[in-house]
Amino acid sequence: MSLPADYHMHTPLCRHAAGEPVEYAKRAVDMGLTEIGFSDHSPMARDGFDNWRMNASQLDEYVEKVRRAQRDFPQLTIRLALEVDYLPGHEEWIRDLATRHPWDYFIGSVHYVSDNWDIDNPAKLSEWNHRDAFEVWTAYFDRLTMAAESKLFEIIGHADLPKKFGHRPTRSCTPLYEKFLAAAGKSGCAIELNTAGLRKDCREIYPSAEILRLAFQKGVPITFGSDAHAPGEVGMNFAEAVQLARSVGYAESCRFAGRKSLRTKF
Ligand SMILES: [Zn+2]
Ligand SMILES: [Zn+2]
Repeated sequence: MSLPADYHMHTPLCRHAAGEPVEYAKRAVDMGLTEIGFSDHSPMARDGFDNWRMNASQLDEYVEKVRRAQRDFPQLTIRLALEVDYLPGHEEWIRDLATRHPWDYFIGSVHYVSDNWDIDNPAKLSEWNHRDAFEVWTAYFDRLTMAAESKLFEIIGHADLPKKFGHRPTRSCTPLYEKFLAAAGKSGCAIELNTAGLRKDCREIYPSAEILRLAFQKGVPITFGSDAHAPGEVGMNFAEAVQLARSVGYAESCRFAGRKSLRTKF
């Protein structure tokens, strides 16, 4: 049985990843993957919004790097995508981005719970000391629900990112998860099983088994992603992710071509 497609990987253009797309592709072939997708951090409407993404003028260079990997590895299906930050008010920019290249899919991710706090940024870890975890979860899932409703994305990225550094609310977050997943189920967007969480302090796949169980009940489709920021991370811990997906009932995942969904058994 082949591993599912790895739909979340980055390039050095985002300034915090190493290795060229051709190196990620080589690693994927070596691991026996048959399909991958590059989904580097999208530019913002304003360059300099933060320091962990390409500038808008680098989009063509990004696409060319992916095209080169496609040319060099014809035996591997390589999708062209972006991980797009969802912030309320940025919808027009995201629609503009969508027209610039023939993307296969957009992963919609929430990293910012306000215009200046990206909750997964290690440089801003001390911000957590001033915050109540449940309030962060609430702000985060409000935005994630808006992202799922927006119809701007095929996939929602790392659905419980606030757990990255090990913070956990003491109150139950189930109602937040229910609301988000109802929105995803209604709009038809998928959520990803993102194995990067296993490499962080939370030591757990994004999202948790609880969220994934609810997602399956609501008919929300899934994809898989390593969130690789280096070639050695491609397809990492996919056996574990497949096992988690199967344990809650999933037997198929989504693939995307030209922003249209295809289903595959895993
Ligand atoms: Zn990144
Ligand atoms: Zn992300």
